[in-house]
Amino acid sequence: MVEMKGKNVLVVGMARSGVAAAQMLSRLGAKLTLTDTRTREQMKPAIEQLKDIQADWRLGTEPDDLIQGKDYIVLSPSVYYWAPWVEKAKQNGTVVISELQLGAWFTKGDFISITGTNGKTTTTTLVGEIFKNNASRTHVLGNIGVPVCTEALDTRPGDVIVCETAPFMTVGNLDFRPKVSAILNLTEDHLNYFGTMENYINCKKKVYENQRGEDVCILNADDPRVVALRDEPKCRVLYFSRTQNIIQGACIKHGEIIVRIGRKDTPIMRADEVKIPGPHNLENALAAVLCAYVMGVKPEIIRHTLMTFAGVEHRIETVREVNGVTYINDSKATNPDSTIKAIQAMTKPTVLILGGSNKNSDYMPMFRAFTKYIQSIVVVGETSEQILSAAKTAGFISVHRAYTFEEAVQKARHLASPGMNVLLSPACASFDMFDNFEQRGAVFKRIVMELK
Ligand code: ADP
Repeated sequence: MVEMKGKNVLVVGMARSGVAAAQMLSRLGAKLTLTDTRTREQMKPAIEQLKDIQADWRLGTEPDDLIQGKDYIVLSPSVYYWAPWVEKAKQNGTVVISELQLGAWFTKGDFISITGTNGKTTTTTLVGEIFKNNASRTHVLGNIGVPVCTEALDTRPGDVIVCETAPFMTVGNLDFRPKVSAILNLTEDHLNYFGTMENYINCKKKVYENQRGEDVCILNADDPRVVALRDEPKCRVLYFSRTQNIIQGACIKHGEIIVRIGRKDTPIMRADEVKIPGPHNLENALAAVLCAYVMGVKPEIIRHTLMTFAGVEHRIETVREVNGVTYINDSKATNPDSTIKAIQAMTKPTVLILGGSNKNSDYMPMFRAFTKYIQSIVVVGETSEQILSAAKTAGFISVHRAYTFEEAVQKARHLASPGMNVLLSPACASFDMFDNFEQRGAVFKRIVMELK
């Protein structure tokens, strides 16, 4: 057991994870130095939250001069791991860890660690729901909003910790060893932080690097970059696939989700009974089925949860039906790839609302992915011109332009007739008109709720 009492610990980055780490370390009796490059003025909320804790605050400065004499340095997810001062601290013999690693040292129970480029929040929430329905003592933690350190000291043996694991959280891993890990998919992302795709994948791999023996690593057999990792884990590897028959894991057989372990096929449910829509969500569901099944959850409980779990807010979320038109909020679709997933999930004629702030995305692949169901688009926001121009190149003609968000929803409403969907899946970030995608989704839902 790691001892923190009396240890000199520097926590770098005092947002949510740093605050949680400081609170836990204080309970453990560590001598704390807390730092952030932001100023005292900007850090008021964190200072207020930690006002009862004894700590040496060093704000508005880089950590370079603070690393001397520290036993441990705890990095928040946003702190750059390859900075020269991190290297220097390690050479001095200081143990540099992530907030996740710190929390994991003091967590009792079994970790289920879910990573991947897309689908982490949905799958983590779903797995959490399955375990709650199983009456397990369940903690849903990590990148989803509650740092591991927040609840670590309150965990008990036998608890289940479902952890949404972003690659930023695993960079400082030493011995973090989940009972179950899952890699959902790997596409290009966060290259401004990781530099190369290779480095990004190396950080994702840390989720299984300490797994051994009967631990389980779950891989997506349909994703070539994920399958390429199959010989690396030193534990049991299981696969999930939406499209192929797999040797060990979960797949679809005659329309039914089955788990195949050893020589036995266990039916779970029909694939079309899964409530969350779209092929991508079926992949999330298959991963969740395996996470739960290998931990001993009964198929009935898994099935019941998958039949009732409606998904996470702002992700292909059905808001309401008005005059036979179904309104769907997919505000989280902040890039064309995510919008493609929503398009693939539509099974009725749809009016699609697109546009937002500019990330220089290429919209042509999105137009190429349009199915027969996408009948018209309404375009709004900073990226309107680019999207209109892509629509023209793609030869898509039912295009309407709006100048405010409210007008976009109203236009979509008039274009939709009974039996159709209105889908907000903007393919763009929200910062031209909103604080974040959550606010955009909330405004959409408010307008829809007020429709007569
Ligand atoms: P994350 O937490 O990894 O960002 P979310 O569950 O919040 O994942 O989903 C983010 C977006 O990614 C959603 O808008 C959805 O369109 C898309 N998505 C969700 N699951 C998958 C998946 N398995 N594969 C590809 N895209 C996905």
